[in-house]
Amino acid sequence: MGVVIVGAGQAGMQLAVSLREGGFEGDVTIVGQESYLPYQRPPLSKAFLSGDSDFESLEFRTPEFYVGKEITVITGEQVVDAAFDGDSGTATTDAGRVLTFDRLALAPGSTPRKLPLPGAELDGVLYLRDLEDALELKARWADAANVVVIGGGFIGLEVAAAARKAGKTVTVLEALDRLIARAVSPITSEFYRQAHERRGTSVRLGVKLERFVGGDDQVGPRVTGVELAPDADGNVEIIPADIVMVGIGVIARGDLAAKLGLETVNGAIVVNEFAETSDPRVVAAGDAVLLPHPLGGEAQVRLESVQNAVDQAKVAAATLLGKREAYHAVPWFWSDQADLKLQIAGLSTGFDSTVVRGSQDDEHFSVLYYRDGRLIAIDAVNDPSDYMAVRRALGAGANIPAELASDSAVALKTLITAGS
Ligand SMILES: Cc1cc2nc3c(=O)[nH]c(=O)nc-3n(C[C@H](O)[C@H](O)[C@H](O)COP(=O)(O)OP(=O)(O)OC[C@H]3O[C@@H](n4cnc5c(N)ncnc54)[C@H](O)[C@@H]3O)c2cc1C
Repeated sequence: MGVVIVGAGQAGMQLAVSLREGGFEGDVTIVGQESYLPYQRPPLSKAFLSGDSDFESLEFRTPEFYVGKEITVITGEQVVDAAFDGDSGTATTDAGRVLTFDRLALAPGSTPRKLPLPGAELDGVLYLRDLEDALELKARWADAANVVVIGGGFIGLEVAAAARKAGKTVTVLEALDRLIARAVSPITSEFYRQAHERRGTSVRLGVKLERFVGGDDQVGPRVTGVELAPDADGNVEIIPADIVMVGIGVIARGDLAAKLGLETVNGAIVVNEFAETSDPRVVAAGDAVLLPHPLGGEAQVRLESVQNAVDQAKVAAATLLGKREAYHAVPWFWSDQADLKLQIAGLSTGFDSTVVRGSQDDEHFSVLYYRDGRLIAIDAVNDPSDYMAVRRALGAGANIPAELASDSAVALKTLITAGS
């Protein structure tokens, strides 16, 4: 049996490795559109951008590793078509290569949502998803005095923090009335607004944008600013920018899945708890996937994180190996912004109460989320012990009663209670 894996990212690489670790002896081929062996994306907006790590340190594995595991990695080719003919199928790349498989695995990740404003084509209007984007951003970094970040989510705020640390004038423009609104509660959002402001970044909320402003120079039309929609008095404000980094979310790359006739919702590939798509011959994992999760209640969730890509890829590999292991790993995530380490565990969707521990003023605190008296998630800022305690509790299906957790002097790990 042979498996073709579409996408040489976090999930694709993990799937291939897990297949081998599980004793799979057939052909394993990963096809990746980028020209690089699989690498880590998180440092692109952190250490790599700040110059604290180079490309070699991003690569997951050496070329020899893949050779040793008999995993073929084809880089620089996009799978543009795939079809089944009976029990086996073929995948065709944009270079005309045709690969045969018995089982197909999709790990295509996601692509940045574009901001279709006038001036979007100006040089210096940038997105950040892959190494090429990061290199483009870095190439302009040293000469950029004014950095505007559009979108106050994790990636935007990480870039803002790195830019501020490098001494640039930084403005974050967010359309909603708070930062990181999709992932954290208003308490954590407000903390981050103040923390970025304290470090000298200007954070503007509820902003409506009009267009990117540009001027001509030797290299062609280049962005020079971002124009906001006129205020109530008709005044127009232009925020100067040498670089504009747009981080307004991502879109799942479910195009190939749709071509195969698989069920997708808003581009995301629908899978069950075994990472099987609507056609059980095809598994899928990572950012592109919409999955059921025990902590998410009835709703299916799309998790854009390293943890999900890794754990779901392991489930997908187990399914291909004929061992059915349902996905139930506790979601976790981190974001480094300046000297602030945010760690999230669980899913806070649908929370009805919170407990705050520690001190926001000291930049060392945590927010525990509860639904019907049960702990469901945590945001921990510079507080790894609270984070670890909640991750452990959720993993064990245990609770930490809110009335006990509210005493910050008591270590959370001592309060974990079994069952409900
Ligand atoms: C700048 C940045 C910072 C991040 N920081 C964090 C963080 O701090 N913590 C965290 O948990 N997560 C973070 N993430 C998210 C994390 O990197 C992703 O969740 C993870 O990479 C998802 O893995 P994936 O395999 O689904 O997708 P990807 O890693 O994106 O891999 C998908 C690959 O498939 C390729 N591909 C797509 N379609 C095809 C095709 N048809 N043929 C061939 N190749 C194809 C793509 O080009 C891509 O290389 C960050 C992401 C970015 C971009």
